[in-house]
Amino acid sequence: MRLRNISGARDMIAESSLVVHEPEKVKGKWKEIFKNDHPLRIEIGMGKGKFIHELAEKTPEVNYIGIEKYSSVLLRALQKMEENPLPNLLFIRMDAEDIGEVFDREEVDRIYLNFSDPWPKDRHAKRRLPSRAFLERYDRFLKKEGVLEFKTDNRELFDFALGELPEAGWKALQVTYDLHNDGEMKEGNIMTEYEEKFSSKGNPICKYIIKRA
Ligand code: SAM
Repeated sequence: MRLRNISGARDMIAESSLVVHEPEKVKGKWKEIFKNDHPLRIEIGMGKGKFIHELAEKTPEVNYIGIEKYSSVLLRALQKMEENPLPNLLFIRMDAEDIGEVFDREEVDRIYLNFSDPWPKDRHAKRRLPSRAFLERYDRFLKKEGVLEFKTDNRELFDFALGELPEAGWKALQVTYDLHNDGEMKEGNIMTEYEEKFSSKGNPICKYIIKRA
């Protein structure tokens, strides 16, 4: 069975208090939702949520939001929260194309993209989460000194993402083509589901950390 077809996923998401429904109404008010003024960090396209759940557990002084397009995948992240609830992690089910409706200027201090879908056809380049079209969206709500971290084993997507930076007005602070063998960048690395899968096959993992130029 494809994950996408798990029946009832949408209903379970709709009833969950861990999911922020109508997130556009919370734009500019995320501190009220978390009831503190801790920094806010988001993962876009989080999949089943392993990375963000571990990160949130490790850094309780930071608030996190995991964003995922598909209910049936998001459901897995909710199950992790049932087993190990965390007060600093919430979820949104949405297509990130509309992310500008959800966060206000300077509201987010870090963005994580992990193993984003490659959309290999040229005509779909705008749908790639590290594309200039998305960097433009992130620019509207990421803090001035905020950073974006991106990991992938897809070298083509990674080279594309690096190539987007100058045109979009961003610059790389750190880049590696082999994260797990990079002494500095691998420190504190939290593996995502896809990272575990692809690195176990021997694929090197690329990562950059970028900010506005
Ligand atoms: N980040 C996870 C990891 O590294 O294990 C999952 C990677 S998976 C290849 C990409 C995930 O991003 C999928 O769960 C997909 O549904 C989600 N996704 C892709 N495009 C998205 C979008 N525009 N908005 C929200 N989620 C998206």
